[in-house]
Amino acid sequence: MVHFVGAGPGAPDLLTLRGAALLEQAGCIIYAGSLVNPALLARAKDGCAIYNSAEMTLEQVLEAVQKAEAAGVDTVRLHTGDPCVYGAVKEQMDALDALGILWDDTPGVSSFCGAAAALGAEYTLPGVSQSVIITRLAGRTPVPQRERLAALAAHRASMVIFLSAGMLEQVQAQLLAGGYPPETPAALVYKATWPEEKLVRCTVADLAARGAAAGIRKTALVLVGDFLGRGGYERSKLYDPAFTTGYREGRA
Ligand code: SAH
Repeated sequence: MVHFVGAGPGAPDLLTLRGAALLEQAGCIIYAGSLVNPALLARAKDGCAIYNSAEMTLEQVLEAVQKAEAAGVDTVRLHTGDPCVYGAVKEQMDALDALGILWDDTPGVSSFCGAAAALGAEYTLPGVSQSVIITRLAGRTPVPQRERLAALAAHRASMVIFLSAGMLEQVQAQLLAGGYPPETPAALVYKATWPEEKLVRCTVADLAARGAAAGIRKTALVLVGDFLGRGGYERSKLYDPAFTTGYREGRA
């Protein structure tokens, strides 16, 4: 059986308990390269076969899994953050189905959650934004035209941009073209939750210059939106004394 496991954003103690237990019993671990903290591999039992998928094709990953199946041991496929965003897991799940190999999926803490924690930020502030757009710039992997960054920017929602730290000039230009005012707060979060984490708070207008000055070109997220500003939000209804909920009677 294959267990897809979310490794979390970096800090080894942000792995789930279920993920830890699966790593400890695995006979084969295939981990997603440098974005997975090597400290997690220390949980592997003696004799566990360990592969770095950064050096492998999908076909080679499947071969390693089949070898483990033949030996009667479970495989952990360890992906950074949560497997469900930019994890390339669906093609693996479908291929395993085709081979008749059982699998399950254990979530992890995505880096966009790690980045918000590092900044002490909440994406969904009442009166500011109630939506989070997770996206990327087109690189060698295309993005559908209807989802181009400028089109998404028109919503001026809270936004998290993955896989684009090497293209900050284009990110900035598209955010401005889409309609974020230049003074909109933004942040670059490099290696959230790792010891070498770096936070750069800036605005859309100086995003590219600040990123270049900090030398950030990869393993970073771009966060954009008024949720990163100071104040300007409404307090929650849920905890408002005047608001009645199913669990509490409101008093004016
Ligand atoms: N599944 C992962 C994302 C994999 S795509 C997740 O849920 O986080 C790889 C991209 O994720 C990187 O290029 C970077 O944009 C982002 N990323 C992954 N880990 C990160 C971290 N600790 N800090 C900042 N960005 C990170």
